[in-house]
Amino acid sequence: ELKRLEVYRGQASVTKDGKEVELLANIGLELDIGPALAADGEGVGLFRTEFLYMDRSSAPSEDEQFALYQKAAQAFAPGPVIIRTLDVGGDKEIAYLGIGKEENPFLGYRAIRYCLEHQELFKIQLRGILRASAYGKVKIMLPMITTVAEFKEGLALVSEAKAELKEQDIPFDEQIEVGMMIETPAAAMMADVFAKYADFFSIGTNDLTQYTLSVDRGNEKVAGLYSTYDPAVLRMIHRVGEAAAGAGIMWGVCGEAAADPLLTKFFIACGVNELSMAGSSILRIRQQVLETNQFTCAERLAKELKLLETCAEAKTFLESL
Ligand code: PEP
Ligand code: MG
Repeated sequence: ELKRLEVYRGQASVTKDGKEVELLANIGLELDIGPALAADGEGVGLFRTEFLYMDRSSAPSEDEQFALYQKAAQAFAPGPVIIRTLDVGGDKEIAYLGIGKEENPFLGYRAIRYCLEHQELFKIQLRGILRASAYGKVKIMLPMITTVAEFKEGLALVSEAKAELKEQDIPFDEQIEVGMMIETPAAAMMADVFAKYADFFSIGTNDLTQYTLSVDRGNEKVAGLYSTYDPAVLRMIHRVGEAAAGAGIMWGVCGEAAADPLLTKFFIACGVNELSMAGSSILRIRQQVLETNQFTCAERLAKELKLLETCAEAKTFLESL
């Protein structure tokens, strides 16, 4: 199987009718860079930076962050490296940040909510990322956004961090793109508004599925209800694609669903520009992209998405694409 997929190495990721889909890798640590390149990743669609904050007693310095992000930027240049700012909380605990035990951590004090209240910690990271942007195609991505106000506050802090670097004559990409994860139903419903402010979207299907269906992604007792194939989740994703197209911004998917060949044609029918996944899935998904005709899939989706009533029906539809 793996050997059979080798023919897809180095090939362009483009559908039969000419739609390009960037296939990027998810990474979390420096040691993920080599394997992601070896797996033929065209760049990084999700750099989970929380790993840099874990298993230590204090937050990493700006210089330490810069050094790591710079390595990634240079390794994948001219390909993009989308660096997600600290996504702490939920199932990711970092003791020294002092979040503490919560009744409902997935609905609690996490990610952007924490960072907006700890602006110095957040700006240290933003400056580290900005400095790396002088060495490759770095983009900033904000996680767990629910409100437009939050995203605007995040943008304001990026502007502050830029001004601080400018003051010190430290180089960075002035045109750096700042995008957001779409992983809450609120963000998906408001995607047309967010698209006025965000340079790109990346759908976090792990959390978007969890929150749309109100199913804890780690609770086995309700795992039977957890499915990205659920028509409610498919509608969310479709809606985000329409909003991005309406505003002319790029969008991608970086949750586990990006590595699921059964969803590739659906994402392409929705107009996806980029899929980011574990490196080991890239060649398999490239095969799927090459076998897709976007036009015919989009036509079928336009007619049939609204008719899907159950997860089982949706799965049958996805198999028939
Ligand atoms: C997601 O929620 O789909 C995602 C990519 O983020 P994480 O899995 O790190 O929460
Ligand atoms: Mg998430």
